[in-house]
Amino acid sequence: MNSKIYIFLIFIFTLMSSCRGQENNSITKTNQTMPANNPHYSKTDTAKVQTTDEEWRKILSSEVYEIARNKATERPFTSPFETSDEVGTYHCKACGNPLFKSNAKFESGCGWPSFFEPISKASLIYKPDNSHGMRRTEVQCGRCEAHLGHVFEDGPPPTGLRYCINGVILDFDKQ
Ligand SMILES: [Zn+2]
Repeated sequence: MNSKIYIFLIFIFTLMSSCRGQENNSITKTNQTMPANNPHYSKTDTAKVQTTDEEWRKILSSEVYEIARNKATERPFTSPFETSDEVGTYHCKACGNPLFKSNAKFESGCGWPSFFEPISKASLIYKPDNSHGMRRTEVQCGRCEAHLGHVFEDGPPPTGLRYCINGVILDFDKQ
């Protein structure tokens, strides 16, 4: 009888420690690949992401979802990226696509992170936006078509463009 209880206790202990091991693994993985529940997130894959609105709702935080899929705008002067001068690369928070380099960033004072050029032509998609009684050009992620912000023609040289981007939809990789 006693030995049976002893074996049972060993069994429970083994089970508990193997569970703990799995938890540790998943924490490490989350840190490396961010967000663990998003199968479309990749900083190197250039294939277009096509999925349903329902899946986006499941895999994005509500804050990111509202901007990426519902074209919401974050409140001005709320993004820590707006005034950040750290060296690195800004990626799409929904799919990981590289969008802007920090050396194309400038302080426009408009309240949102601003850039004068994208990493490449294919990084972005441009769409006419006549909402709110304005004629603007909407900027979307070239890979997953997430709404990022707008581009205006009052930026600094060499392009004269100002990409006004929601900080919530950006993921920063420090160099
Ligand atoms: Zn994207």
